[in-house]
Amino acid sequence: MKTSIATVSVSGSFAEKLAAIAAAGFDGIEIFEQDFLASDHTPAEVGRMVRDHGLEITLFQPFRDFEGLPEPHRSRAFARAARKFDLMTQLGTDLVLVCSSVHPAAMGGIDRMAADFNALGDLAAAHGVRVGFEALCWGRHVNDHRDAWEVVRRADHANVGLILDSFHTLGRKIDPDTIRRIPGDRIFFVQLADAPSIDMDLLYWSRHFRNMPGEGDLDVTAFLRAVMATGYAGPLSLEIFNDQFRAGLPRLVALDGHRSLINLMDRVRRREPALAPDLPAFPAPDTVLGVEFIEFATSETDAPALQSLLAASGFDRCGQHVSKPVTLWRQGGVNVLVNTATEGFAHTSFVAHGTTVSELALRVPDAQGAADRARALLVAGLDQPVPPGELAIPAIRGAGGSLIRFVDDQRLWDVDFRTSPAPQGAGLIGVDHIGQTMPYDEMLSWSLFYTALFSAERAPMVDVADPDGLVRSQAIRAGGLRVTLNGAEARRTLAGRFIEDSLGSAVQHIAFASADIFATAAALAARGFPVLQIGANYYHDVEARFGLDPALVARMQAANVLYDEDGGGQFFQLYGASRSDGFFLEIVQRQGGYQGYGAPNAPFRIAAQKRAARPVDLPRA
Ligand code: MG
Ligand code: MG
Repeated sequence: MKTSIATVSVSGSFAEKLAAIAAAGFDGIEIFEQDFLASDHTPAEVGRMVRDHGLEITLFQPFRDFEGLPEPHRSRAFARAARKFDLMTQLGTDLVLVCSSVHPAAMGGIDRMAADFNALGDLAAAHGVRVGFEALCWGRHVNDHRDAWEVVRRADHANVGLILDSFHTLGRKIDPDTIRRIPGDRIFFVQLADAPSIDMDLLYWSRHFRNMPGEGDLDVTAFLRAVMATGYAGPLSLEIFNDQFRAGLPRLVALDGHRSLINLMDRVRRREPALAPDLPAFPAPDTVLGVEFIEFATSETDAPALQSLLAASGFDRCGQHVSKPVTLWRQGGVNVLVNTATEGFAHTSFVAHGTTVSELALRVPDAQGAADRARALLVAGLDQPVPPGELAIPAIRGAGGSLIRFVDDQRLWDVDFRTSPAPQGAGLIGVDHIGQTMPYDEMLSWSLFYTALFSAERAPMVDVADPDGLVRSQAIRAGGLRVTLNGAEARRTLAGRFIEDSLGSAVQHIAFASADIFATAAALAARGFPVLQIGANYYHDVEARFGLDPALVARMQAANVLYDEDGGGQFFQLYGASRSDGFFLEIVQRQGGYQGYGAPNAPFRIAAQKRAARPVDLPRA
């Protein structure tokens, strides 16, 4: 099916929008009239510019306040339509969107409106164009696609059809399965948008908060499944009004848009195989089994401080890469790599960010399949030459330009590394979650990235209070991979400072799992692990809030362990002191199915980190 996007969805001048939309791989655009009026080009020039970019104009929109008008408004509306039909011919498009009227003089009556559309159909036919009718969910008399369809059905004109928009149907909580009864050839165009569930005025919600399918909370998949069941075969077009996207980089917004459409079509085809017997030639989303390794890029000079932190955390150096200056640090099945190469990808990461997590390797059932899915979803890959005798591990670009690798071959540690057995560690048994910090306006983008690539679930977004501003946190879980995306707007927040210091998005914290946090705390203390000190006020509160045993609270306080609970599960967490660039480690213990990340504790953690004003510099190993 053809993909399309409304010009209003992307920021920039008309030329910038076209370049971004073409580069993202769309087939066409909806021209938003405002965008055309604001440009200096003639209609014919605009049409040529669009076609020069390899795009077609799938729709001209909007034509407002047409149906149900008394005279003299009615005649004026027809005269206005004739002008726009001429303009469309010059632009080189044959379909216009008429949205349901909000005109104060507009009268109701399905038959009156149907008669107006029948007459408009004659006018359109004379100009060689077609008209699509869309129910705005705040329309004066028509605000439901079922009513718009009834108008179109009674208009009974070959040049008049229905336009569906997922926002208008789902935003009003209309059952999308009602679409299944509409004949597919009477649907002229389909617009897609998602939105976060916010209880607010429909018009305001639509104009400012729409986002890409998969980024919000509407069931756009159910909507498109119903559309596909009608036999509709026209374009699928994004119509996104979003303040953030209008200020964003046109190319990134357009790329996210196309990724969201590919993902949506893929999900629909896989759930409605009868409608699409030829499933797309790329693998289905899969789960992540676990984190195979985390690689830090650093330098010979900076490596000792990182290695001291790893040693204090219970890791032992027990391997060396066969051909690269990469050492393996291990405990309890957790693998951490320290890369001090002076060339190649890791070195570039170090130069850009300082000591940083440059690679995250995920254990998946099918590594090449996961990489192929990512590529099909327009994620860039990285093809590096593999020295003879070493394994080729597929890699894609993740947040902040870091790499995500996919591993399904446990020979990795025998083929690419020379290893020795890992001694007893400090009780860390896995990677619980990875905290990525990014500018707020990148959060939706990376949330879409993880949920499109994998079989994943998003938790509701939470606000975390930093003394100097708000940080938004979005947790995503894809099986054995848990990621928290932390978006900062204010520069003085810890997250905001981290973004400045590390020049963009990066992993700011890694949380390791322990099966016994108090035993781990004791083992860490014996190794000189620098723990973040938590004040007594916190413990008075947490004891009262959860009705905890004072003896347990005393142990927690002695070890600087924080506590949270949800629906029967308990969560213990312990933070390491922040490195001077803001990076820190966390150790957690989950019990009884706790699913959160200790968000209620985040303000206390941040305040304690800010109090520990002077960053801790570890002795060199
Ligand atoms: Mg629309
Ligand atoms: Mg955390």
